[in-house]
Amino acid sequence: MIGLIGGMSWESTVEYYRIMNELVKERLGGWHSAEVILYSVDFDEIVRLQKAGDWKKMSEILGSIAVKLENAGAKAVLICTNTMHKIADDVQSRISIPLINIIDVTAEVLKRDGVKKAGLLGTKFTMEDGFYQERMKKHGIEIVVPEREDDRNAVHSIIFDELCLGIFRDESKKKLEGIVEELKQKGAKGIILGCTELPLLLKGDGLYDTTRIHAEAAVEFLLSNI
Ligand code: GLU
Repeated sequence: MIGLIGGMSWESTVEYYRIMNELVKERLGGWHSAEVILYSVDFDEIVRLQKAGDWKKMSEILGSIAVKLENAGAKAVLICTNTMHKIADDVQSRISIPLINIIDVTAEVLKRDGVKKAGLLGTKFTMEDGFYQERMKKHGIEIVVPEREDDRNAVHSIIFDELCLGIFRDESKKKLEGIVEELKQKGAKGIILGCTELPLLLKGDGLYDTTRIHAEAAVEFLLSNI
């Protein structure tokens, strides 16, 4: 059984659930489906704490959820958001089962594809705080983010004010496509959709869907542990 810490936002957690079940069905056939235990948070509380920069409190919240999932029988845990991987190591330190890290599994896919320099789109925390870049660097991958602050602000606001609220606008899609093009011109060989809601709006060649990659890694874990 896999434990999901979701609800950040639930719009993308639904995707995890769907993708994991589809993949298990594809691999095992028939009525097989993924054994999942989901703890879905009230995102409003998390957003407030993010705005206040209280990552310690968020570690406590997510850490105690991870412990509950472990006690409930989960054999591995996923945090279903890129941003909250800022505190992933802290959450991992509170449990004895593995936390499947979204940055590590995305790096593995990039390496498999020979991508050494990747563009990164995500929340401002993900693009600016350095944890994503640092972890990717350990895998030998260089990260580029949109150069202009107003572009980074635009991506952040599309995520929080639209996608996390279930709002999908053509105009925003075009804006993101423009930013992707600029990242490619700066030498990015692949673009990481480093926010689990971004694949709800953007799809295409050379775009790395972290929601799918993370869900695939979870299914890989599930099927290799039965
Ligand atoms: N789901 C998003 C991510 O992957 C953003 C929401 C959050 O702040 O956790 O980063």
